[in-house]
Amino acid sequence: CTANSSSGEPPVDKSLGGLLSSAFDEASCRSRFEAARLWKPSNRTPSPYLLQKLRSYEALHKKCGPNTELYNKSTEQLLSNRIMGPMECNYVVWMPSDGLGNRMISIASAFLYALLNDKVLLLFLSEDMKGLFCEPFPDTTWALPSDFPIKNIRWIWSFDKDPNRFGSMMKKKLLSNRMSIANGSFSLPPYLYLHLIHDNDDYDKMFYCEEAQLLLQHFPWILLRSNQYFVPSLFLVPKFEEELRLLFNERTAVFHLLGRYLFHPSNSVWGYITRYYEAYLANAKERLGMQIRIFGDVDFNSHSSYIIGCALTRKLLPGLDTKGSALPNITGAKPKAVLVTSLSNGYFERLRDMYYEHATVTGEVIGVYQPSHEERQHTEKLNHNMKALAEIYLLSFSDSLVTSPFSTFGYVAQGLGGTRPWMLVKHDKDNLCLQSLTMEPCFHFPPSFECKSRRKMNLGSVVPYLRHCEDFPRGIKLF
Ligand code: GDP
Repeated sequence: CTANSSSGEPPVDKSLGGLLSSAFDEASCRSRFEAARLWKPSNRTPSPYLLQKLRSYEALHKKCGPNTELYNKSTEQLLSNRIMGPMECNYVVWMPSDGLGNRMISIASAFLYALLNDKVLLLFLSEDMKGLFCEPFPDTTWALPSDFPIKNIRWIWSFDKDPNRFGSMMKKKLLSNRMSIANGSFSLPPYLYLHLIHDNDDYDKMFYCEEAQLLLQHFPWILLRSNQYFVPSLFLVPKFEEELRLLFNERTAVFHLLGRYLFHPSNSVWGYITRYYEAYLANAKERLGMQIRIFGDVDFNSHSSYIIGCALTRKLLPGLDTKGSALPNITGAKPKAVLVTSLSNGYFERLRDMYYEHATVTGEVIGVYQPSHEERQHTEKLNHNMKALAEIYLLSFSDSLVTSPFSTFGYVAQGLGGTRPWMLVKHDKDNLCLQSLTMEPCFHFPPSFECKSRRKMNLGSVVPYLRHCEDFPRGIKLF
């Protein structure tokens, strides 16, 4: 499916190489059809095997999704409080934690886990997320119905102490015992809860071991709460090795492809995005995205000098002509646009003033823009999250990106955009400005033990395709 071929511009492949199903109508979700026109063309094509897998997943989701007989049958099992093993339809229910970036990287991870296990992914969408995204799978929904029988799903924190928490059951050796009993035809708990948050312990982290993966196949209901991009660990499970190789011919494009497949801003968010893009960015000859996320206290003057210095030394922005007072020629040349995203507006103001008060050595004119400055994170508010999603998307349309270390907000933008960002990384107290080797997100808190022996192990050095993250050395990412 192509567009633009009559305007003389190269045709845009709206289906993203067949990634997106053709079974959707355009009006219900404009971003699905229009985003491809605003992204830089991607050279990461999905493998035929991934396309086939997605189409069969869509069929499975339609067959087992909410409001189907098979869904009702599986939820009846939950109510009966005991199950005897896997059913025809088996589910992963994702539960949110933290900000939107964290949520999006963990949804993508949960989706890959579901895909690898022929399970159906459902999302518990809290009020602050309702209406953010379009449905990704045709003729069904990924939203968990409000009459889902496990009522305390609304009190997400209560799951920390849930008796069916996988990690606590492993710790008490309940699970392996129960499994052997189960094989002797006794029943299993109705669901398992996976606590895959940054603060989980080694018992919870046993989820990433093959032994646990085999065990989890017996459960029709897996509840999963995560704020992590745990995809890299799935690559270490021998059982998934061959499948993952077939699905992703390039390991460094996993989030790029899954993110573009799953996350389509709803029409109302797409309105924010396109209005802003058309008003401020569309006319630029080039776009630089600068994502500034501050964790803890920093000195504004030195931090803003560091960020601007990064863009200048890497030639992402032209230097200032401080000696002369060169005037730009009024030739109608297009400006270069800088899109700043940040909770505060100080960084934007400093950059805007800099290019207002001075000419550039190249004679270029620089437009500096910032869509919002919300001051504080308010993940509990839908409108705040709509702006966050809009800005993540706007950043993803940039030709180059400067991002902040440890920020999942930046990871999603770089992944959707298919861009290797320049990162503001501190190393031995030095402020560095490094270009990331990949566009993949970092798994911040992976397990640190070897599955069989349970001995401490550095996962960044076990296989050539996993390395420590540039911006957070404790984490790992795919290479
Ligand atoms: P992380 O904390 O940087 O890993 O990213 P998250 O997206 O998980 O959480 C940060 C949240 O703070 C975002 O989801 C937004 O709600 C808010 N936020 C942070 N930076 C920005 C920004 O530049 N623009 C907007 N609109 N919101 C932001």
